[in-house]
Parts: sequence; structure tokens; C-alpha cells
Amino acid sequence: MRTIEHWIGGTSVTGGSGYATVWQPATGQPQAEVALGGRVEVDLAVAAAVKAYGSWGDVSLSRRTKVMFALRDLVERHEDELARLITAEHGKTVEDARGEVIRGREVIEFACGIPQLLKGAYSDQVSTGVDSYSLRTPLGVCVGITPFNFPVMVPMWMHPIAIACGNTFVQKPSERDPSPANFVARLYADAGLPDGVFNVVHGDRGAVDALLDHPDVAAVSFVGSTPIASYVHQRASATGKRVQGLGGAKNHAVVLPDADLPDAARQIAAAAYGSAGQRCMAISAVVAVDPVGDELVTLLARQAAAIVVGPGDQPGSQMGPVVTAQARERVLAAVDGAREAGAAIVVDGSDLRVGGHEDGFFVGPCLLDRVTPTMAAYQQEIFGPVLVVLRARNLDEAIAVINANPYGNGTALFTSGGAAARRFVRGTTIGMIGVNVPVPVPMAYHSFGGWKASLFGDTHAHGTEGVAFYTRGKVVTSRWPEPVETAQPTLHFPTA
Ligand code: NAD
Repeated sequence: MRTIEHWIGGTSVTGGSGYATVWQPATGQPQAEVALGGRVEVDLAVAAAVKAYGSWGDVSLSRRTKVMFALRDLVERHEDELARLITAEHGKTVEDARGEVIRGREVIEFACGIPQLLKGAYSDQVSTGVDSYSLRTPLGVCVGITPFNFPVMVPMWMHPIAIACGNTFVQKPSERDPSPANFVARLYADAGLPDGVFNVVHGDRGAVDALLDHPDVAAVSFVGSTPIASYVHQRASATGKRVQGLGGAKNHAVVLPDADLPDAARQIAAAAYGSAGQRCMAISAVVAVDPVGDELVTLLARQAAAIVVGPGDQPGSQMGPVVTAQARERVLAAVDGAREAGAAIVVDGSDLRVGGHEDGFFVGPCLLDRVTPTMAAYQQEIFGPVLVVLRARNLDEAIAVINANPYGNGTALFTSGGAAARRFVRGTTIGMIGVNVPVPVPMAYHSFGGWKASLFGDTHAHGTEGVAFYTRGKVVTSRWPEPVETAQPTLHFPTA
């Protein structure tokens, strides 16, 4: 079987506590084994990154930018290969995977503008003969610990900006779909990035803990589930590192009576079932505001039932499998639990079988109506193709439901009224908001991040907040005395 090794200092490195199986979700068969790195491999990777930082931290902006432009072109040229690699290990459709690669590439494009983003400020003559300027400098070795659901895009929220800012980087990808990270490492090498600037250590908790504890790691970016985000934030902060920990989500779509209901149903179904619901910005809960509930559920059911489920690389498939057998079990248990708790199972994809792929990790779209905030199916992040519908009497009640939820990643409102939209935008305690847009993922030049249990730390990913995260400020105050200086030095605190 194919083995997937670490990429350290510009070369493939084996080693660790053993190997984990990488499954092919569409067939349910093992397809590769990935090395599980531990302290030894982490030490090697961080040492390579420290060594590379010695020179990369001083490389000119023009050269750094040149690498980013070259990487951007390589990612575009290899878009199809990358997308197929994602589909093989994650399961999503190739079209969806291609979208992920494009959204990741947009962050590289943002990083191509790093000279503009790193421009400091200069104040002339802050005091007589004194000038002052500020600049942003890199941190050193930065780490990215990333989830399975976007194996190309989420790491690209991190490493292009970190590296363009002058840092070196160690990525710890998800052990469920590890191959794209190695592919990207080779693209970096082809783009002219010196060895050791971008490294990949595969593994699970052992590799993560070694990275979080390593004294030479300056900053950690994490994206994944809330319990691990919180753990990573606490453990890495305890050793003085800068940390951003992006966590899980339960994203609500509110539908008001003045919305275009067929359009809202189409958009919500796409946001709920795309990538089999395995997106942190997936809509997983609808709050239907009276009296639209019954009509909306009928429309959503029609959309859900029409979705073509099949292998991600098969033309015509709109939704692939979930990532593992355990993920499938979790989804089925959530649907069963909701049934027992009194929810109405309007569309039940639990028994779906895909011809020729009977062992694949498929589960069809599920639509659960009459769900209440006390039910587990509402409280959990199911992270599968399950959409639950709650009812509210008015917009204020819908906003109260959203604000009472511990997560705060994304939300969307469907309406034709500007005043309601404004009230919703201002009133919800959520980081990313869509108005008639179901998946409001910010563009690369804005920043991505939620509130509450969806983010630990306070800096969002990419955009200008990404640049701020991967740099630290320095302010210089300088005075160049004229050749003849007669005044005595004063000992009081300097003022202008
Ligand atoms: P996960 O938390 O299981 O894994 C994320 C990373 O943490 C992986 O690299 C994994 O190897 C590592 N990890 C797992 N268990 C660990 C442990 N006990 N100790 C240390 N490290 C550990 O998440 P996942 O299942 O890969 O991804 C899905 C989750 O990610 C969902 O909750 C989803 O909402 C979230 N997510 C959030 C965002 C966001 O921007 N907020 C984006 C994508 C995904």
C-alpha cells in the first residue's frame, strides 16, 4: 500500500509511532498509510524551519513575492490534480474540490501583495530633529494544524501569508486526508522556496502535542473542532505562543415571510448538503419565521430528495460520501436520536446505498422538522448532511435562538427587507453573516473567523488580520544630531 511520509527540509522523511489508514470514502476501502510523527519528527521539522528562518527572514520582499506568484501559477496549473487528490481522500465531488483549490489560491494571490501589506508608517519630525516609524517583522517558526474538511484551502488560509511575511512554517495536516499537503510542499519547492521554509509533519495527537510544547515554535494556527481548538489554545498559550484556534459551528439560516421561498430553499439546500454537510460554514439549522414553516419544509424536502449522491469523481454526482465509517455512524445516530426525541424525519437518507459502492461511507440528505433547541440534534455539530428546522414567531425570536447557541461562526438571513436585514446584521453575535447569501465565507482580503465557541484567541484568519497574526510590530524613534550639539542631556521622560 502507498505510504505518505513527512516532508522536512525539502525531502521526504519516514518515522514516527506507526501508520494510520487513509480510507477511500467512496469505496470504504483503505488506500494508503500515513506516518504518525512524534517528538523526533517534530524536532526535525522545527529544526529545519529554524535553520531556514535564519535566511528566509532576511530575504527581500521582491524575492518572497516572486515565490508567491510562481506558487499561484503552479496551483492553477495543477488545479485538477489537486482536486482529484482531495476527492480521493475526502470524498467531496471534484467540482467542489476545485472550488476549494480556487478559494485557497485566492489567499496566495492576496499574499502576492505582501509588500503593500507590510508597508509601515513614517512620522517626520515627531520632535525637533526626531523621526519615528513603525514596521512589522516576522515571528519565526509558525505552525498550522488543520482539519480534514478542506485539506487544501484551510492550510492556504495560513502558510502563504505566514511565509510571505518572512516566517517559516510547519503544517500538521489531518491524518484522514494527508496527501494534498505533500503535493503543495512540492509545488512550493518548484516555485523556488528554499528547503525548510515549508515543512509537513503528519500525525495525530502525539505530533500536535510536540508542536504545541516546542520552545522554538512562535505561533500556532489551528482549525478544527471546538474541544480541540480550546485545548490547543490553552496548551500553546501556556508556553507563551501566539495562538488562533478556529473551532466548530452550528450555522443558522433564518427565513422571513417576505423572502423568495423557492430561492431560499435552493440556496439553503446547497449550503446544507454541499460537501455532505462537512463544511464549517454549512447551514445546519433553519429557523423558519411564521407562517413560512410548512411551505419551506415542503420546498426543502423536494430539494433534498433530488440530490444525486455518488462517488465524488463520478460525473453527475452532486454529493459524495462522508469521510469515514465513524462519521457515517455519528450521522445515523444523530438522526435516530432526533426521531426518538420527537422530531419529524421528513427526508431520511440513513438507508441510502450507492450501487457498486455498497461499502462506501454514504449517507443521503436528511431533513428533520419540528426540532427544538433542547434536542441533541440541534445542540451537536453533526457535521454531515443533516438539516434541522426550528420555528420562530418573529425575527427577534429567531435572533434570540441564534444568540443563545454557543457557536458563532456563520449565519444567513433570507428576506426582501433591508430594515430586517440591518437588524439581523447588528443583532446577531456571529462572526460571518450572509444576507440572501447562504455560505458567507469572506474573500481572501477580508478575514475569516467566528465568535464565541467558534474561535479561541482573537485574531481571525487571512486578510489583514492574518498579516497581523504572523507579524509583530516595532516602532523606531531616531535622531541624527547635527554635528554641533551644545545642549545638556535632560533626564525627564521624553515628550514632544
Ligand atoms: P478535529 O478537531 O478532529 O481535527 C483537527 C486537527 O486536530 C487535525 O489535524 C487532527 O489531527 C488534530 N487532532 C484531533 N484530535 C486531537 C487531539 N485529541 N489532540 C490534538 N490534536 C488533535 O477536526 P476535523 O474532524 O478534522 O474537522 C472538522 C471540524 O473542524 C468541525 O468541527 C468543523 O466545524 C471544524 N472546522 C472549523 C473551521 C473554522 O474555520 N472555524 C473550518 C474548517 C473546519
